Amino acid sequence: MKLMILFHCVTALLALLTPWNLYAVDDGDCVSLNRGTSTYNLEGLVSYYEDKSTNRTIDEILNDTSVSWNRLAEVVPSFGFSNSAYWLKIDVCQPWKEGERTVLEVSYPLLDSIDVFGVVENTIVYRVHTGDGIPYSQRPEQHRNFIFSLPIFQSEATIYLRIQTESAVQVPMAFFTATQFFEHNQKIIFIQGCYFGIILAMIFYNVFLFFSLREWPYLLYVVFTCFYFSFQGVLQGFFQQFLLDSVWWQQHALLIFGYFTMVFANLFAVSFLNLTRKIPVIAKLLHGIAFLAVLAAMLAPVMSYGPMVKLMLAIAIPSASLIMISGVQLWWSGHLPARIFTLAWFTLLFSFVLASLSKFGILPRAFWTDNSMQIGGVLEVLLLSIALGERINEEKRQRILVEQNLSSSLEQMVEERTSELNHALEQLEEANIILDKMSLTDSLTQIPNRRAFDKHIEREYSSAKREGAPIGLVMIDIDYFKNFNDTYGHQVGDEVLQNVAKTLRALATRPSDEAFRYGGEEFAVLLSNTNLEGVIIVAEKMRKAIEKLPLNIDGETCVITISAGISVYDQSVPGIDIYDLELFISEADAQLYRAKEMGRNCVSSPQCG
Ligand code: GH3
Ligand code: MG
Ligand code: MG
Repeated sequence: MKLMILFHCVTALLALLTPWNLYAVDDGDCVSLNRGTSTYNLEGLVSYYEDKSTNRTIDEILNDTSVSWNRLAEVVPSFGFSNSAYWLKIDVCQPWKEGERTVLEVSYPLLDSIDVFGVVENTIVYRVHTGDGIPYSQRPEQHRNFIFSLPIFQSEATIYLRIQTESAVQVPMAFFTATQFFEHNQKIIFIQGCYFGIILAMIFYNVFLFFSLREWPYLLYVVFTCFYFSFQGVLQGFFQQFLLDSVWWQQHALLIFGYFTMVFANLFAVSFLNLTRKIPVIAKLLHGIAFLAVLAAMLAPVMSYGPMVKLMLAIAIPSASLIMISGVQLWWSGHLPARIFTLAWFTLLFSFVLASLSKFGILPRAFWTDNSMQIGGVLEVLLLSIALGERINEEKRQRILVEQNLSSSLEQMVEERTSELNHALEQLEEANIILDKMSLTDSLTQIPNRRAFDKHIEREYSSAKREGAPIGLVMIDIDYFKNFNDTYGHQVGDEVLQNVAKTLRALATRPSDEAFRYGGEEFAVLLSNTNLEGVIIVAEKMRKAIEKLPLNIDGETCVITISAGISVYDQSVPGIDIYDLELFISEADAQLYRAKEMGRNCVSSPQCG
């Protein structure tokens, strides 16, 4: 989506600027300055002479007939890096356009020294010296490019240019009428404004992003773009025009900014693509190249210009290739920011190729080719900024994914803990049941104990009272048990207690009957829904059963007996209403006492006289 918008913006901009009519065809041997339609194509109209000694003057050149002039075939005279001085000669012919001065523009702001001479009939009628070797403020025309406002020549004239520079000797020239130049400048200002404006906007945008996100790639991008911005500023002549009118800076800024652009391009690529982790070899190489570039930038002011520019290119090629390789490699991993990043670098490299092809004359000159570096640069800066934006989205997606995983694993953990807790609760419940059972069971005889008796009797008694059913209690005490213990020992006594308990329990047959160990050698049997007769029968059964218990101790047959006291709560018996639970129990106790008194081994009940 963003890419589409970008594409539309760029095509709209280009539509606005085309056709690019700077180079109309000329048909004569000389430049005819009165056509009034457009500017002039100088192809095939420029001759040059290389002065290796660099000390020849215009007078010598004009008067020395042995000077051999060569016709230039290229559109833009270019001689590479050279220590020579180059003389260019252009014939301009009549008639002049009425009253209009002609402007010659040399649009390569890096030339150190340019002398322009207007010669009419071997007389110098115009002479100007300029170049970036003199401060901007002292130039005859205050323009980022070198502008020569030629006089209105009265007859055919020859324009001579003397160029001497440490930079590459390139002399892109164009003639305009003053009006045309004015109009042409409007377009250029608009284009350059857009170009630098977009870059500046991206710088500010990412500065804000850096301050809010505190992530290194944004800062590295900003520094890289600042250096690129400055590099282009020097190349276009804006740097000394608006920023720093210093000859020293004009001579060295291009190299320093160029090298630092590379340093931060490398650092940005490593950081943005996370190469240290993903492709450590390339990360190391890029860091190494960045280090070399820093050294080169520091040496640039003291070394000679030509080799340092060549070194810059020599470093830029592997650096850009490595960045491209890593971008392409990460492309396949499907990481969208990496893809946009790669596209951005590809755009820049493609624009370099276009520019080079056009310089070598393989591609014809057009708006596209003349400005391919700028277009490529802007597209790159924009795409990189989009890639950085996409990075935020990508990280947001990752974060949401992590949060989702975290919450689902948290849910799972809670589920596990809950089921563990439930399990523990179940175990605890079981343990409680066991504990409860234990606390209600007598450990020796394994029948319910006194605590169980207290609970049970209360419940059964009130239930009997409510339902009007009879309930009986038998209190049992083993006779002379102390003697028994004394005779046979406590261990045997314990066994007897167990046997008695078992017997009593076996005889409490109904589901609601229950036998308890009341304490020591005393037992209690509670019989719900049983009247006095029934209770007596059960008590008697028990007494007889105990009496008959086969007890064989050390070969000796022993007999033990029990005494029992009965208490019955039966609402059908008159006068029973005075009974309460306490009385109910104490009555059984009292009857037991009576049974003992009666001589033991008997059952005593309220009925017994
Ligand atoms: P009585 O016929 O009057 O009931 O005479 P007794 O000896 O049975 O009465 P007493 O209450 O004086 O003695 C109870 C004895 O029961 C005392 C103790 O030796 C014995 N005894 C109480 N609890 C236990 C026990 O858990 N194990 C054993 N082996 N003996 C016990
Ligand atoms: Mg006793
Ligand atoms: Mg006893």
